[in-house]
This record gives sequence, structure tokens and C-alpha cells, in this order.
Amino acid sequence: QAKAAGRNTFRFFQPTLDDVLRREEEMRAGLRSALENAEFELFFQPIVSLESGDVAVFETLLRWRHPREGLISPEEFIPLAEETGLIVPIGEWVLRSACREALKWPEHVRLAVNLSPRQLQSSDLVGTISSVLQDAGLRPERLEVEITETALLQDDEASLAVLHAIRALGVRISLDDFGTGFSSLSHVFRYPFDKLKIDRSFTAGLPDKMEAQALIRAIACMGRDLGIEVVAEGVETETQARSVRALGCTAGQGFLFGRPVAAADVQLGGRGRVQASSGPKRL
Ligand code: C2E
Ligand code: MG
Ligand code: MG
Ligand code: MG
Repeated sequence: QAKAAGRNTFRFFQPTLDDVLRREEEMRAGLRSALENAEFELFFQPIVSLESGDVAVFETLLRWRHPREGLISPEEFIPLAEETGLIVPIGEWVLRSACREALKWPEHVRLAVNLSPRQLQSSDLVGTISSVLQDAGLRPERLEVEITETALLQDDEASLAVLHAIRALGVRISLDDFGTGFSSLSHVFRYPFDKLKIDRSFTAGLPDKMEAQALIRAIACMGRDLGIEVVAEGVETETQARSVRALGCTAGQGFLFGRPVAAADVQLGGRGRVQASSGPKRL
């Protein structure tokens, strides 16, 4: 009796496998027409210099405004878009639209865009980036692309060549979610990264966890020696901000500095300083 009631209560909170599959099927079907129906929206989150407090970069974060399901997180639909290959045209739309937004910001503020491994393998990523920049009239130096370690596991030599070609355009390359993959350090440093973004799971261990401190300090130290900027992701508290700065990170990103906001809520403050407003459109 109690067991049956317990199971019912559990089912009330936990969607059944059927629910999950139905939602996934709904998303898979909807993704195909989402681009032409203009259902994607760009959000931007500031990356801040820990020294000056100024916004150095805005990272582009994609959201899908589904007609029935509402605002859907990329954690949910990006894997489906990768599976179907739709991430390639979607990614190109993100790049093109984000470059247009960045034109409205002061010159010294850069734009970061996430690239999926599928895009890195697609036939003409370098040509696409180059023509998007040209069409928008955005200097290549203002663009950073973020890739994760999983993108590097696929095809070593091919991805290495693509990254060198992207960099030859003048575009910077960041390694995203650093520390969560299984690449050895020697493997990672074969690639031409300008920036390492330490995954937020490490920042979450601050200020108390010794392992998190040791890892962040080591990466920051290595970055300084190699001339690679080190950014802490997921900074949520003042204490964490002080901590990552003391450990040697030069920039931070996280809810403390600003949540991702809709393009229209990226505000330009006085004296060319950029702020992300704390407007209501958040996710
Ligand atoms: P990411 O590139 O590592 O982006 C950072 C994620 O951490 C964002 O989640 C952001 O909202 C979240 N975040 C930022 N600060 C904090 C914080 O202080 N605490 C916590 N708990 N979270 C924080 P979001 O927007 O849900 O994006 C998730 C992932 O989806 C991104 O991780 C990225 O891998 C992927 N993604 C987003 N947009 C795109 C895109 O246009 N293309 C591709 N290929 N992937 C994208
Ligand atoms: Mg990213
Ligand atoms: Mg990240
Ligand atoms: Mg991530």
C-alpha cells in the first residue's frame, strides 16, 4: 500500500520514459523547421576581466523558443541537432546573427560563439567563418570560437589543420569546459588555443575544495607560462571571484557578473563600458 502510494508520488514528479521520448520526438520533428520559422534566439553572457571588472567578451548562447514547449535549453536540443546534422546550418545562423549583434557593441568588446564537433568536421567551416565575417563587416580579431575537448578526439590531424586555418583568419580559439574531458595535457597543447575556459564544476568547489584549488592554480600557472588566457566559468559568488583571481585566472564568467540576456538587453553603459542588464528576459 505505502509502496504503491510512494511509486505514484514518484511518478508525479518524474516524467515517465514515455513522456521523455515523446518530448524528444516532438523536438526532433520541430528542429527541422525551427530555423525557417525563426524560433531560435541568441542570448549573451559577459566574460569579465578580473583585473578591471570590464566586459571583455560576450558569449553567444542559443535558445529555442518552441511554439508549445516554450524556451528550451541548448543542453536539450543541441545533442539532437548534432545527431541529425542540423547543427551545421543552425550553427551558421548563430554565427551570422551573432556577428550582426556584435557590430552594435564597442570595438574592444569581443564576441564568442560555440562550435560543435560536427561543424568542425563539416566541409567548409573556414570558408563559412571567413565569408560571414566579411558579410557582416566584423574584424576577425573580434571573434572567438569555443570548442570542447570532444571535438579534438574525432580526427586529430584534420581538426588541427582546421584550427590553424581559423586562426590564420585572425579569429581566436578557446577550449571550453576544460578539465571535463579525458585528453592528456600534451594532447591539448598540440592545438593552437588562445584561451582555456576552466569548467564550472571546478569553480563550484571553491573556495573550500583543495583539489579544485590545486587544479585551477596549476592550469592558470601553465596558461601564464604559455601565454594562454585562463578563464574561470561558473563564478557565482564574490568569494569565488576573489578565489579564482588569487589562483591566477585573468577573466571570469558566471551568474555573479551577469546571466545570459537577450540581445536587446545587452546594454551599453557610459564611457563605452558594456553591461548586461538584469532585465526580465533570462533563462
Ligand atoms: P558553455 O559553452 O559551457 O556555456 C556556458 C553555460 O553555463 C551556459 O549554459 C550558461 O548559461 C551556463 N552558466 C554560465 N554561468 C553560470 C553560473 O554561474 N552557474 C551555472 N550553474 N551555470 C552558468 P547554456 O546557455 O544552457 O548552454 C549550455 C551549453 O550548450 C553551452 O555550454 C554550449 O556547450 C552549448 N551551446 C549553447 N549555445 C550553443 C551554440 O550556439 N552552438 C553550440 N554548438 N553549442 C551551444
Ligand atoms: Mg562556451
Ligand atoms: Mg563552458
Ligand atoms: Mg558547457
